[in-house]
Amino acid sequence: MKVNKFLGIFVYPMYAQYEGIKQVFDNIEALGANAICTTPLVAYPSDEGKGQRKPDLHIDGYKRLLSRPIWGKRKIQLEYFPAHDPDLSIFEKSFYKPNLKKAPPEVDREIVNAMITEAKKRGMAVHFMIHPFLPPDIRTEDQPRYIDNSVPKPPQVALTACMNNPNALAYGLALVEDTIKHYPKIDGLFTDWAEYGAYRLEDHFTCFCSHCEQKAIELGFDWNTIKRDMNSLWQWFHSLTPKKLENSLRLLGNPSSFTELLIHYPGCLQFLQFKAETVVGFYRQTRQLMNRMGLNKIELSARGWPPPWNHSSGLDYRALSEICNAVTPKLFTFDYCALPRWYGQTIQGWNPKLKESIILDTLLKWMNLEDDIENRSFVKYNIPGPKEKHPAKFEVYQNRIDEVLDQVESKANCYPHACAYMLDSQWEQMVSLIRNSKVDGMWVTMYGYLSDRKLEIIKKIWQ
Ligand SMILES: [Zn+2]
Repeated sequence: MKVNKFLGIFVYPMYAQYEGIKQVFDNIEALGANAICTTPLVAYPSDEGKGQRKPDLHIDGYKRLLSRPIWGKRKIQLEYFPAHDPDLSIFEKSFYKPNLKKAPPEVDREIVNAMITEAKKRGMAVHFMIHPFLPPDIRTEDQPRYIDNSVPKPPQVALTACMNNPNALAYGLALVEDTIKHYPKIDGLFTDWAEYGAYRLEDHFTCFCSHCEQKAIELGFDWNTIKRDMNSLWQWFHSLTPKKLENSLRLLGNPSSFTELLIHYPGCLQFLQFKAETVVGFYRQTRQLMNRMGLNKIELSARGWPPPWNHSSGLDYRALSEICNAVTPKLFTFDYCALPRWYGQTIQGWNPKLKESIILDTLLKWMNLEDDIENRSFVKYNIPGPKEKHPAKFEVYQNRIDEVLDQVESKANCYPHACAYMLDSQWEQMVSLIRNSKVDGMWVTMYGYLSDRKLEIIKKIWQ
């Protein structure tokens, strides 16, 4: 007899709008799901060239398609509208105001509350996901700064604000407050993008804005040492040779060489600690805010980059397990199909003489994304189409799960977050891997990628 494990499904209101609440919940209930996660946003198809593409473009994911059509389409431009009227007084401390766009009259904004009622009726918990650090129309001065003082330029997966920027932080906390004030009956909250970036190699050199400097000094970090050592690393990346890349690989199997580096460049380690304290500090403030509102029962989940990227994004699972009810490392394999190229193109831009194959061979080892591709070149690393195999071997995801479990030490639930955008055969492999690991459960993104066949696979393996 298998032990029951938690199962949660991300399902956005647009599917309840399009397929109907009954159909959506019948499908989810049949999986034996314990919870759904949704957003307080409703959607409506917009004209070509307007709104946002669904599935999101994610820098260059032009081939990405939905498995379940929405308004009859597998890729669509949508506009999003708040499902409630935000309380503007909550946002007074920030320059940023929430999305106030009025939904067209034919859009039923009450669908979000109806989803909450329906989930509860069927014995499922309801979590919300919000984006505290994606304020509308972000200003350049509030973006994270690279060490050379420049800011991320499009295309990016998302244009976020620096978490230590007072304007952004005030907006982020106001968004939490406004959301749970309007939906006090929800059972849990996810804050997406509440971490430093890691989609681009340059992101590992954020953030060096004046607010981060001030915060780091307040926390007792030696900012001059951080800047000196991170600048050495920045220079190293700008002067790479095949020999340097080969030497870097020696570090992977040699803790002594790695320790030697940390002794001589302690600022790099301090920088990672500083980013972790920033992120953990935000989660702590969020928890305290919810408690002050008397909503202690609403659970908080920390969701974001898995190892090794979480060390640089600041998502310190060990510390977060003291504050959050669950940690949710993202195992979004489609991202890891393109990441080697995104990082690799930056390296090649800085070091034009380096061959693509050497850059990719090294990056895959650094990031523990080994695959069977021969003669590696950038064109082979993309966000795949719906019928393309994701190259990395799935054992690498087992390693990441085990690492998080070690860090969390059972102080919080560990629910890896799998994305169903992959081949059916690989989905079967991923669901089995998570089901058979020592984790407490799984979140699945998202209903729109769950074809009937993929729903069957979850049902067969999970129950
Ligand atoms: Zn900053």
